[in-house]
Amino acid sequence: MKPIQDVLIVGGGTAGWLTAAFLARHLGTSHGGIRITLVESSDIGIIGVGEGTFPSIRGTLAAIGISEARFLQACSATFKQGIRFDHWVRPPGVPGHDHYFHPFSLPSQRPGAPELLPYWLQGDAGPGVAFAEAVTLQKAVVDARHGPKRVGDADFMGPLNYAYHFDAGRFATLLAEQGQALGVRRVVATVDRVDLDEHGAIAAVHTQEKGPLTADLYIDCSGFRARLIGEAMGSPFKSVNDVLFVDRALAMQVPYERPDTPIASCTIATAQENGWTWDIGLQERRGIGHVYSSRHTDDDAAEQVLRRYIGPASEALSPRRLVLNVGYRETQWVKNCVAVGLSGGFLEPLESSGIGLIETAAYLISHLFPFDGDMAPVARHFNDFMRERYARIVDFIKLHYGLTQRRDTAFWRDNADPASFPDALRERLAMWRSRPPQRLDFITDLEMYLPASWQYVLYGMEFKTELGAARAGLRRGTEARQEFQAIAALGAHARRDLPPHRALIDQMMSKA
Ligand code: FAD
Repeated sequence: MKPIQDVLIVGGGTAGWLTAAFLARHLGTSHGGIRITLVESSDIGIIGVGEGTFPSIRGTLAAIGISEARFLQACSATFKQGIRFDHWVRPPGVPGHDHYFHPFSLPSQRPGAPELLPYWLQGDAGPGVAFAEAVTLQKAVVDARHGPKRVGDADFMGPLNYAYHFDAGRFATLLAEQGQALGVRRVVATVDRVDLDEHGAIAAVHTQEKGPLTADLYIDCSGFRARLIGEAMGSPFKSVNDVLFVDRALAMQVPYERPDTPIASCTIATAQENGWTWDIGLQERRGIGHVYSSRHTDDDAAEQVLRRYIGPASEALSPRRLVLNVGYRETQWVKNCVAVGLSGGFLEPLESSGIGLIETAAYLISHLFPFDGDMAPVARHFNDFMRERYARIVDFIKLHYGLTQRRDTAFWRDNADPASFPDALRERLAMWRSRPPQRLDFITDLEMYLPASWQYVLYGMEFKTELGAARAGLRRGTEARQEFQAIAALGAHARRDLPPHRALIDQMMSKA
């Protein structure tokens, strides 16, 4: 068995450069460390969408040595404090809440105070107060379009948890700059052939411009093309389109009317007749798109939905059109080839899982790195881990659709049909009818979304948990009511204390 000395990454999008930088930082590239080469095509572009992230991105940026101020400046980035879901429970015009919020801050849990969820369920937060509003102050801050912290709070710190929105093209450029500064060698060439050895492992990849390139480990970051893991290694792709129906996307970049237009500090995901629209505020423009199900509508009708959402500003714009392959490869590491990013899978953009999955894969590869060349046990573990993580994300995304009360179109009726739910999700929902979800329901290492996220979405979608006899154990109602009042008061305080989102960004960038 030959120790691993050379790693070749094929593809220079977010997956390629993030993995390259992470490996370079973690494994070291100088003084006898691993040699990392990244080959990217100048003819094939990056996907260039994917502008919403999950809070894990902050740890990843810190791990690869990119400061927050530099990131904000280089990527037109803004702060994302969660996702607002409009019209997911019921269509416009039907009485009831018209939106709910999935905040990134956890429910308040002061030492010694009772866990608030059961008390919220029995109405102690007051009539009509939504779960996320009762247990965190983040909704109050986001509604006011304020940022999650003050200038002067240390990098990556602050009272409220957050992620970012950013320009995907500029992010890839920043990552490439950082990757090369960390010692990654960049080769610009297009891979046009892959040779396998007698054991079915990759022996070399061939490029027209630079000839053959060889390595001990090959990382496929070639996007939906899956040039290595799919085309060369034949690892099957498992579609989950029977559970998650959206399979097309339209995207537009919409400039602000004025340079000082306030910026939303959350993603706005609005349910539409046959899919949903995303609305992401960057510094100079909004990224707006529509994902939809081609089984339930056609491209022209979907474009009209997007234009109606944007309004007159859409008249001067034409959308980018994308076909989405929703699913994943159950075996992502085969012999000496491992997939990261879209080559491994893609699960629609609803909860920004794409980049989170790249972070997970890069973290696993670098921490489990088979220096001695014995890849089989690492590959098995990686495959088990990623397969389970994908499956858990499918369940979490389905939760958003499956609990809808909308019956206005076949798209929503089909989504609400329990026959389209994965078994594990159906079982969990059955349990949660008589008690709320708790930490022990989850093996958290395998979950991208913590139990609190499940609770926010479950109760945001107005799922009913009947506590029944369990109410007898809830003896701390007075304390819980005091906590709810304290959180509301803190929310009002935070609205006064925290700066407007755009002002925070401007001041943070002046530190760069
Ligand atoms: P790509 O960006 O496609 O990069 C592929 C790279 O491989 C390119 O550099 C290309 O040149 C290179 N390449 C391909 N073939 C060859 C070859 N033969 N030789 C050499 N080089 C080659 N994720 C999120 O986290 N949040 C979101 O909000 C989000 N929204 C999304 C919305 C949509 C509509 C879509 C489609 C995706 C979204 N994603 C989102 C997913 C996210 O965009 C991707 O996970 C991310 O951009 C990584 O893409 P990638 O690097 O795997 O592929």
